[in-house]
Amino acid sequence: MAEVLLVVDARCPTKIGTQALVGGWVRTRRDSKGGFSFLELNDGSSQGSLQIVCDSTLPNYIDEIQKLSAGCSVRCRGEIKASAGQGQATELHASDVTVLGWADPLEYPLQKKRHSFEKLREWAHLRPRTNSFSAVTRVRNCISRSIHQFFQERKFLYIQTPIITSSDCEGAGEMFKVTTLDLEKLSKSGRPVDYSQDFFERPAFLTVSGQLEGETFACGMGRIYTFGPTFRAENSNTSRHLAEFWMVEPEMAFFELTDNMDLAEAFLKRISLDVLQNCLEDLEFFVERIDKEVIQSLHKLVNDDFVRMSYTEAIQVLETSGHTFEYPIAWGSDLQSEHERYLTEVHCHAPVILYNYPRSIKPFYMHVNDDEKTVRAMDVLVPRVGEIIGGSQREARLDVLEQRMREQRLDPQAYWWYLDLRRYGTVPHSGFGLGLERAVQFVSGMANIRDVIPFPRTPGNAEF
Ligand code: ATP
Ligand code: MN
Repeated sequence: MAEVLLVVDARCPTKIGTQALVGGWVRTRRDSKGGFSFLELNDGSSQGSLQIVCDSTLPNYIDEIQKLSAGCSVRCRGEIKASAGQGQATELHASDVTVLGWADPLEYPLQKKRHSFEKLREWAHLRPRTNSFSAVTRVRNCISRSIHQFFQERKFLYIQTPIITSSDCEGAGEMFKVTTLDLEKLSKSGRPVDYSQDFFERPAFLTVSGQLEGETFACGMGRIYTFGPTFRAENSNTSRHLAEFWMVEPEMAFFELTDNMDLAEAFLKRISLDVLQNCLEDLEFFVERIDKEVIQSLHKLVNDDFVRMSYTEAIQVLETSGHTFEYPIAWGSDLQSEHERYLTEVHCHAPVILYNYPRSIKPFYMHVNDDEKTVRAMDVLVPRVGEIIGGSQREARLDVLEQRMREQRLDPQAYWWYLDLRRYGTVPHSGFGLGLERAVQFVSGMANIRDVIPFPRTPGNAEF
């Protein structure tokens, strides 16, 4: 009986001598003069492919095997033997090669030649068959597992917060509306929208963050995290923004700002270490093809302390840097990506945690400092990406929170349940959000966020 093996396992020297059955997609076929064909077979389980040695005595050698081309699917049976080839410990000597599906070489888009990442986005349904996107996908999987492990080991509870919500957490108004109203009929009628006729009998949106709902669990169960899809209708066509992305949001009762920073730092170190330990082959691919610093900067992140710097200090650094920025910077303005990257890449040569931002540029829920000018916000900035984490200590004082809501023209009544957390048994608490895709970007060195998520949603793009 042949053992069904994934390519990643069939490549292990421990499998030498095994009768194996391996399925996959042909990457290349090479015919040798000595009456052999070599297939490079990949099934997505590893960066490396499995070499299949096909003897010309196989019954379908001429009719089928010699017609195989990139993209064809096959199932191969045979013995795993030691390989003399470079970069592979094993190869499979086929006793049977069954062709499952042909891929016409005149039509199949992914021929051997390398395609640009832009082009591959148009073939998002075939990207999983490429070296780069399968590497990204394996790393993304490793990070997702690492996220759950990190929090589960620390006894955080995994909470599912709603995707449909009526509250705007970030107060930025960048939300997708959710409705069952007939928009065509409405626009023809010319009447104003009557939300009492809508599904939820009120305006509803796709969530921009699970934080507010997450806080309700933290303020009762202690340490929790959410990990789910998040939606922002920001019309920013940048290389680090998606309209739909995945965010991890831990929320901790009894954590103050520095506890929050400590957790964020330990968290990023853990993710990086797990990728270094589990995805080395993929990282080596990224070093070769994408960014030669990728592995080095992961080691640095794991080993070095993050720099912690107040917003005010960061502004001084930027103002006296002598560097010309596209966007001018002064105390009170939000940092642009170029400023963030200057701080982490040029000034600190390390990840940076910026804290105590001006109250005017941060949401209502952040704890107001005694100086009355700043709030206990913290952003973590890393090389190549800029902001990867945004978080804060939450405002736990009812009166200050209500005042901050009015300051930002929010109706405290609409947030009655959120205010109840401060009305009854309020506690200091903190949390942050990590964008999964930005983490994958940092780890892989991929320049564009559209290339680290299976089906990117950006302005004007929702094919597939
Ligand atoms: P930015 O200034 O880069 O737009 P933000 O301040 O709006 O980020 P937060 O609201 O603090 O971000 O969200 C927490 C984290 O979620 C960010 O640090 C980032 O990793 C991620 N994130 C935010 N917006 C997006 C987006 N549109 N696409 C992908 N990830 C995002
Ligand atoms: Mn944003």
